[in-house]
Amino acid sequence: MKCLSCKNGEMEASVTTYFADLKNCMIIIKNVPCYKCEQCGEVLFSSSVAEKLDILMDKAETLASELTIMEYDRIA
Ligand SMILES: [Zn+2]
Repeated sequence: MKCLSCKNGEMEASVTTYFADLKNCMIIIKNVPCYKCEQCGEVLFSSSVAEKLDILMDKAETLASELTIMEYDRIA
């Protein structure tokens, strides 16, 4: 799979740390499976992973904690 961003590098299976700055809190999710471009570092999530991240962010908002740090492995 070619990178959509630089159109040159190959996307390789990897893990990343996902960071989101929401209205009233920040959320960090570690060890999120992704595809990462070997050249420009562009990160792409599969649709099932992206869906799960959405659900987690909804949950994090209801926790009303300023900063939430989660491990993807433990919650997926
Ligand atoms: Zn790239």
